[in-house]
Amino acid sequence: MALVKDSAIVLRRLDFSETSQVLAVFTRAHGQQRVIAKGVKRSTKTRTGIGIDLLEKGDIVFSARPGKEDRLATLTEWRQRDGYRHLRDDLARMYAAEYAADVTVQLTEAHDPHPGLFDTLDAFLRGLEKLPPADALSTYLWRMLREIGLRPQMDACVSCGRETTDDELLFFSSHQGGAVCRDCEPSVVEKRRLSRETALLLSHANEAVSGRAFPLLDYHLREMMGRPSKLSALVRRAFGVRHRA
Ligand SMILES: [Zn+2]
Repeated sequence: MALVKDSAIVLRRLDFSETSQVLAVFTRAHGQQRVIAKGVKRSTKTRTGIGIDLLEKGDIVFSARPGKEDRLATLTEWRQRDGYRHLRDDLARMYAAEYAADVTVQLTEAHDPHPGLFDTLDAFLRGLEKLPPADALSTYLWRMLREIGLRPQMDACVSCGRETTDDELLFFSSHQGGAVCRDCEPSVVEKRRLSRETALLLSHANEAVSGRAFPLLDYHLREMMGRPSKLSALVRRAFGVRHRA
């Protein structure tokens, strides 16, 4: 059984039994991994074991059986490196972080490494200490979409290729992959209105994205995942999103 060392961020946590946890972790060099942490919640004389928390970063060692990658790996060591303490006392920050964790679990494949996305996720979680959560989350999602190949095209119609940045009446289709002009819109089944402001905002977005783009990103992710993130409603409420952008 091979031992693997890596950096990891805990994206999902399931209590498995009295003393064990099953975790979905995002590792830097080995992508998403499902690991079982046995005995991790056991208390000692001096310390009450609370296990490994959601959204903490650490150095991980786990054992994986070659050829049995679909099985749970066994966590053998965990040393916390960053607990992102600033998330724990602010609900909007925590919801934003949990939303990012949820969509990252759902849209990345196990054993598919994305070191750049790992670093981006880490920077996002640290950045929540200073940046408004809606801006920080939208920026992370925009970068994630590029990394996993699902970033929509926003400056030209995905159907006819015409530049759309001057259009007042615009649509967005997640499954078509971006903006749709009014001429092509009737032949597209899955679509929603796209405000010129959001289209312009994302057309010009290289790295940082305003939180005003969140409703569209949330819609796109919902379509890509086949259902909304379980954090979607909480995040929308925390961000004060009342209607579709
Ligand atoms: Zn068109």
